[in-house]
Amino acid sequence: MAGVAEGCVIGVDLGGTKLLAGAVDADLAVHHRTNRPALGLGQLDLVEMVADAVAGVRTAVGGDVTAVGFGIPCTFDARTGTAVQAVNLPLQDIRFADVMAERLGLPVVVDNDANCAVLAEARAGAAAGCDEVAMLTIGTGIGGGLYLRGEVYRGWIGSGAELGHMVVERDGRPCQGNCPNWGCLESVASGTALVREVSLSVARRPDTALGRALEAGQELTGPMITELASAGDPVAGDAIGVVGRALGVGIANLVNIFNPQVVVIGGGVSAAGDLLLDPAREVMALRALRPGSEVVRVEAAAFGAEAGMVGAAILARERPPGIPSAS
Ligand SMILES: [Zn+2]
Repeated sequence: MAGVAEGCVIGVDLGGTKLLAGAVDADLAVHHRTNRPALGLGQLDLVEMVADAVAGVRTAVGGDVTAVGFGIPCTFDARTGTAVQAVNLPLQDIRFADVMAERLGLPVVVDNDANCAVLAEARAGAAAGCDEVAMLTIGTGIGGGLYLRGEVYRGWIGSGAELGHMVVERDGRPCQGNCPNWGCLESVASGTALVREVSLSVARRPDTALGRALEAGQELTGPMITELASAGDPVAGDAIGVVGRALGVGIANLVNIFNPQVVVIGGGVSAAGDLLLDPAREVMALRALRPGSEVVRVEAAAFGAEAGMVGAAILARERPPGIPSAS
């Protein structure tokens, strides 16, 4: 689109499966989106792909880009400005802000992807006007973001808030990727868990839309499952219900600990909408303590799967102290 406001920033959300980037104007409208696969790349190739995606958006914008914000699925050490460990990507001990600033020649800020997402939702999304917000982003893994007393809460050295790695089953299955724990919420309520759940049950019910899709050689993915569930496929719908109820246990924990006004659910799997959220709300209402459980809202992200990208752009525009940045 022509006439993007001067002083555009670029927001980038790097997930376990794909990258989403776009130019974001001062009204948080997104222009010149780009999508790149991230799955299977090593750290060097990831950095290359990310820099190339940003350069592509910058060219498409045509005008001035003043800064770039990155949301990446990593823990951080604010003492060193280092992205320490991603669970679902091969990113480890990298000064991501410095690397990108040098590659791009632009000021850069970096934060955890779900911290970015909760910032976007609290400023202008499903939690607009709220000072106490918790967010879970359900994709390849489960990201967590906290917005407490009107600010993103990142903990002591900036490595919070990994809400997806709260334990919901003490002796549960091993968590995925680089997480050393087991029984994490991520192990039972992520997109990966959804695909696993469907794989197990579709074998018992091959005569369904999902069964026929698999028979025809289609790959089982989160988007395919949510789409078929919305169209009424029983196996896909049941699996989303199972994941939704597991999610409800995690939400009950958040409600008990933080007494949030809103728990926002984002990430790709949140496209399932109330098919996912209704069972989650039911379980939360049964298990969380009153009065927090009675007043909290559980809502889908208003920015949908773009919350992380928009939040990264907000950070790029504001460049607050205390998170890794470079210019
Ligand atoms: Zn874990």
